Amino acid sequence: MNLMEEHSMQINYDLGAGIFRMDDIDKKIITLIQEDPGMTHSNIAKVIKKSQPTVGKRIKKLRDSGILKIQSGINFKNADISLVVVHLITKNPQNLFEMVKRCPFMLNAFNLSGEYNISIFLASSDIRQLNDVVNNHFRANSEVQKVSMDIITNIAQDFILPMDIYSKAFILPLESRSETYCEYCKKAIMN
Ligand SMILES: [Zn+2]
Repeated sequence: MNLMEEHSMQINYDLGAGIFRMDDIDKKIITLIQEDPGMTHSNIAKVIKKSQPTVGKRIKKLRDSGILKIQSGINFKNADISLVVVHLITKNPQNLFEMVKRCPFMLNAFNLSGEYNISIFLASSDIRQLNDVVNNHFRANSEVQKVSMDIITNIAQDFILPMDIYSKAFILPLESRSETYCEYCKKAIMN
């Protein structure tokens, strides 16, 4: 790596703000890894015409910053798993974000700028179970003012997300039920 390149990297990597600004070399590396996660550093270096140590350093920075991740998961496009998206109006989106981190049925949440201020993806092998989860976690939740649940009926492209496949918190044997970290699931099991 020459001095010029080192200097430009320092300008481009704004880790302090929590936002990672990719430059053209980063974008090329990410594109190649997306196409072939097993591609070696030396092959990437050949394609983008940089040295192998430069590629290694770049990939380390991309990984350390959290922008580049190689993730395994379920492809919801092909799996026999029901997926719903719930749009909510809530006084406290942060509390729902915390819920999503713990609840085994919830895949991810998004803050929105519109009338509904948060959307949450939920998955289960049983659609009726998802309706129960939405009732227990949102409709019975005093902080949530409005709930709209839609079943996802078709997915255009591969949609791969990690999921706790043992998320059948409601039908697990009693001794396993305490394994859930979600307070709302626990409460629903007790009732
Ligand atoms: Zn839960």
